[in-house]
Amino acid sequence: MKTGAAQRHFGPAGTPQVAIVGGGFAGIATAVKLQRAGIHTFTVFEKSEGPGGTWWDNRYPGAEVDVASHLYSFSFKSHDWSRTHAKQPELQAYLEEVLDDFGLRPHFRFGTTVHDAVWDERTHTYAVHLEGGESVTAHMVVSALGLLNYPKYPDWPGLDDFAGPKFHTFRWEHEHDLTGKRVALVGTGSTASQIVPEIAPQVDRLYLFQREPGWVVPKGDRDFTPAERAKYQSKLQRRITRVKAAYLLEKNQIGGAIHRPGTKINSLREHQCRSFITRVFADRPDLAEALTPQYPYPGKRPILNSTFYPALLRDNVELVPRAVASVTEKGVVDAGGNEYLVDILVMATGFQPANYLASLEIYGVGGRTIHEAWASEPKAMLGMTVPGFPNFFILYGPNTNGGEIVSLLERQAEHVVSAARRMMRHGKTSVEVRPAFYRAYNRWLDRQMRGTAWVVSNNYYKAPTGRIVTQWPFGPLLYGVLTKTVSPLSERTTVAPAPAVHGSLPADARVPAPADAD
Ligand code: NAP
Repeated sequence: MKTGAAQRHFGPAGTPQVAIVGGGFAGIATAVKLQRAGIHTFTVFEKSEGPGGTWWDNRYPGAEVDVASHLYSFSFKSHDWSRTHAKQPELQAYLEEVLDDFGLRPHFRFGTTVHDAVWDERTHTYAVHLEGGESVTAHMVVSALGLLNYPKYPDWPGLDDFAGPKFHTFRWEHEHDLTGKRVALVGTGSTASQIVPEIAPQVDRLYLFQREPGWVVPKGDRDFTPAERAKYQSKLQRRITRVKAAYLLEKNQIGGAIHRPGTKINSLREHQCRSFITRVFADRPDLAEALTPQYPYPGKRPILNSTFYPALLRDNVELVPRAVASVTEKGVVDAGGNEYLVDILVMATGFQPANYLASLEIYGVGGRTIHEAWASEPKAMLGMTVPGFPNFFILYGPNTNGGEIVSLLERQAEHVVSAARRMMRHGKTSVEVRPAFYRAYNRWLDRQMRGTAWVVSNNYYKAPTGRIVTQWPFGPLLYGVLTKTVSPLSERTTVAPAPAVHGSLPADARVPAPADAD
């Protein structure tokens, strides 16, 4: 595998130096897959002081995953989950455990923000610029920034005048005791719906501002019983549960029917949501009406939650079915001009997922930036590669949201490894997607979006042009098959015209690859 040419190109280790940007699920998956392939020359740059990505950032009360815990975990590291759907502290601890089990810590640089990466056409390397002025050289760059990493802060008039604490859920300020306080919570997405039942019993009054309701599906989350946990001590049982959960998810996504109004599975799901509303709000027709979406299922990202609706029946919770229009020193003003006096303002206003690589610039062939290449419509071949940006890979990139994310990230990490191996095997220094494949794939994707509820609804899936840029319309299985078959075919490899540059990432950040952790 490590040929003489690979050593000439990449240095004594004979493996490319890989800069991974982001230390959440995506970055960790890439690190483990590289290590397992015998490629130890990688560094993970993480802006936070610890691993976890979204689970490091989102520590709001009630933060919990929507996917079954046994599925929302790496195939190479199972865990004794305490709940059907793990909460943030357990997920954070799980990811820390992966780092330790696989000896990854020497490869991590925490508290380090990558500003940009500049491709050198002569040497086929990237100059990776870190905040603070340091620059490192890498043969490959992997963006593992995630999808929901760039918050959407509102620009309401008067926001700066608000006298009390105000913060976005992405940076929850735990130092403020909510006990007996009047709280405004803005937004009714997945985040707010988890916060409401958690803080409602504590606060004096909770005003929940809703611009447009989401479809809410009962989630059925609970702690595992001791008997279940005993059963899951068996590796086989954990595997069976994982496969079952993956099968159910895949079944619902066949042909993308669940996203298409009028199909059997879509109608069933919408009916399930409507029945949930009718059941919980039998005595509150006002709430039932305000919470029923006026667009087809799923339209926006569905909200999986069993406790949100019941919490809205509490006497101290008031749903304000109007957007926030402005903020005053003492409160929040809704679109109808009514002011609500509050002590604390919490913005659950979400993220900017369609604004891919918002915090990272990539300069490719000819010095063109990836944002210039996209012209506000982010696209990639299977979400990962863009023509003109050799040796650059995006994990959780354009049009890869919506299947089951952890297995999808593993497939993407495997693709990065496969590209590295192809270069090493064939004595090449760059790998780049062919424009014809990129164009054909994206035309095919656009056709798949037709007839989905996404097109006719307000959601965060669209570029300013209206194109759906975040969603993968099928299950993870098809994605995995395409990644294994079409991706390598779509790419060409070349050799750098100039003498080799061996990169400047610490090649000695080598730790013995441990045996399988699972
Ligand atoms: P979100 O789904 O984008 O929700 C933001 C909310 O803020 C929306 O309800 C939006 O209304 C509202 N909003 C924005 N400006 C407003 C204004 N001026 N007045 C009133 N409301 C306003 O963000 P999120 O809840 O943080 O969730 C983002 C994503 O993170 C989810 O879709 C999910 O993929 C992920 N997530 C996952 C989990 C999990 O796995 N458990 C938990 C939380 C989040 P509109 O709908 O009208 O835009």
